[in-house]
Amino acid sequence: MVAAASVAGTSPVRVVLLESSARLSQQPYQRKKLVLLLSAMRHYAALLRAQGYEVDYLHAPDFLTGLREHCQRTQPGHLFTMAAAEYATRQFQLTLPDALGLPVTILPNTQFLVGQFDPFPDAAPTRTVMMATFYRAMRRHFAVLLEKDGAPIGQKWSFDAENRKPLPRTLTPPEPPVNEPDLLTQQVMEEVVRMPNGIGDVTGFNLAVTHTEAAQLLATFLGERLANFGPYEDAMTMRSALLYHSGLSPYLNLGLLEPMQLIRAAEQAYHDGKAPLNSVEGFVRQVLGWREYMYWQYWRQMPALATKNAWNATRTLPAWFWTGTTDLNCLHHALTRALQTGYTHHIERLMLLTNLCLLAGVQPHEVNTWFLAAYLDAYDWVMVPNVFGMGLNADGGGIATKPYIASANYINKMSDYCASCRYNAKQRTGPDACPFNLLYWNFLITHEEALRANPRLGPAVLGLNRLTTEERAVIQQEALLVLERLGFHQAAEA
Ligand SMILES: Cc1cc2nc3c(=O)[nH]c(=O)nc-3n(C[C@H](O)[C@H](O)[C@H](O)COP(=O)(O)OP(=O)(O)OC[C@H]3O[C@@H](n4cnc5c(N)ncnc54)[C@H](O)[C@@H]3O)c2cc1C
Ligand code: SF4
Repeated sequence: MVAAASVAGTSPVRVVLLESSARLSQQPYQRKKLVLLLSAMRHYAALLRAQGYEVDYLHAPDFLTGLREHCQRTQPGHLFTMAAAEYATRQFQLTLPDALGLPVTILPNTQFLVGQFDPFPDAAPTRTVMMATFYRAMRRHFAVLLEKDGAPIGQKWSFDAENRKPLPRTLTPPEPPVNEPDLLTQQVMEEVVRMPNGIGDVTGFNLAVTHTEAAQLLATFLGERLANFGPYEDAMTMRSALLYHSGLSPYLNLGLLEPMQLIRAAEQAYHDGKAPLNSVEGFVRQVLGWREYMYWQYWRQMPALATKNAWNATRTLPAWFWTGTTDLNCLHHALTRALQTGYTHHIERLMLLTNLCLLAGVQPHEVNTWFLAAYLDAYDWVMVPNVFGMGLNADGGGIATKPYIASANYINKMSDYCASCRYNAKQRTGPDACPFNLLYWNFLITHEEALRANPRLGPAVLGLNRLTTEERAVIQQEALLVLERLGFHQAAEA
């Protein structure tokens, strides 16, 4: 899965596309993601050939062997490749001139806007740059949703406070359109079925595999879901996985869509009166704010970021994360969705999955491996800052200035999961108490000193003042039992 172009003397450009067996089997991956990647690459090769390019499409044991084979056969004078988004691949690219014995030009990565404009080029890795500050600088520079005088349209940079609504029972989100697999995709599906160690299965694969198909999904999102994106951005429901989200991250991360294409299209929908400002700004903040910020933070903090463990988490991920079989109703739904389809929306990732892992003290690298395996849109550059930074706060607060932790109270307010759960969302202790409650209070007690030092967590920790010594002891004892019962065991080396 590498694309490069080679030039032999003055002869035309030749495009090299490479499927590496070593990369495909590096760890278990979501099978639907493998179909998406391989089918998109093969469709791209077909498109290039139809446009008159010579394409060398290789299947190789690893990238270097494949590139060496290409160079030996075609004797190019120069190789061009786009800078990889991921740290390890970028390091590999730097070794290519020596390894191949020819000039290699690494071109800027066009999948991110921070490649064109870095709002804080000199910020030391230790300096805290908050997402809100970063986002404003990006809005200003790219002139997105601005008045003529440079002020934000609507006189506010964020309309987040107006969003955060649960989904009303009377509202049913529209089903997203499906793309039936063509012959090329069907062929890839048959190959992926035979690959060992995959997550989920290829049945029901219905994703876009070309730019045209992805652009059609963008158009449907703008027409059918963007208007409700803002209010229900944080809502969770058993009735819909996507709700009013775009579902476009796999295509952005693969290069089938470009971030500015989404941003300008959403902005236009606002100017055309097709979607309100709170929804359009909310969506723009995800793409121009969060996505760019995470990529920027990744490059600022790697490789150290992927080793961080600020809360000294020492437990293992339970086996049921790989099956979805659990009596925690919210987790059962989120895990089953992730394992079967490779998708859950942001709040399920953050406020269910990593929230529980943070409260339970699961080692960050285990959580990261699980996410990388399960999701369609998973890549190192986006997973590491989201898991280590935003989800687990393992980087000491460089990315998210407070840990995203919540009890069942939040989940109950924002979802319909608790009503049919065997646990009681309102109970803190006892056999029916929701594990989120017990583990939330246990986390506050265990890390009280560090949490009290964080001004953003003041109100949450204040609740501890109301607990008696006996109540604290009961919470801690029951939490230990629940952690063991749920399979969050101490890691052998911890
Ligand atoms: C623990 C955890 C793991 C995550 N792993 C990934 C991942 O592997 N790949 C990935 O692309 N996103 C990841 N995210 C971010 C976010 O959850 C997904 O981008 C989003 O859910 C994708 O669904 P969507 O396209 O429907 O998003 P929408 O809600 O429609 O948002 C629009 C777009 O904004 C971008 N975006 C929003 N938030 C983020 C963010 N925090 N980081 C990066 N981009 C963002 C995405 O490109 C997304 O497509 C993760 C978040 C958390 C908390
Ligand atoms: S009661 Fe607890 S475990 Fe059950 S769905 Fe609600 S938050 Fe999840």
